[in-house]
Amino acid sequence: MEDYEKMVEKLRSKGQRLTPQRLEIIKAIAKYEDRHPSLSDLMNDVKKVLPTVSFSTLYNTVMKFEEIGLVHLFSINGETRIETKIKPHINVIYRDSGKIKDIEDARLLGLIKRKIKSDDIIVNIIVY
Ligand SMILES: [Zn+2]
Repeated sequence: MEDYEKMVEKLRSKGQRLTPQRLEIIKAIAKYEDRHPSLSDLMNDVKKVLPTVSFSTLYNTVMKFEEIGLVHLFSINGETRIETKIKPHINVIYRDSGKIKDIEDARLLGLIKRKIKSDDIIVNIIVY
């Protein structure tokens, strides 16, 4: 997982401004480590520190983070979840609980990529 300092450094290296809001949002994301928080999880956390932050600011910031490769976004049960682990891995998603388990297995990932004929670095597998 990308920790707070690494994420800040990456943002800086992409020439992005480090506003207090962006820093708070990064801090909130980093706190979740590899637990794939939802946007509402983040909203709750960020609001504790910056009560006036709006959902659209949070959303736009997270979209910007995805654009520069800081995080990946995916959706489960209609909810946007945030992936902070940028290196190749498999998310095994338990559909009922929404729990997600990261599996880092290069051989398994290689097999799946060949099967689906895609080079996606993150593969989501939903367990029903
Ligand atoms: Zn993951």
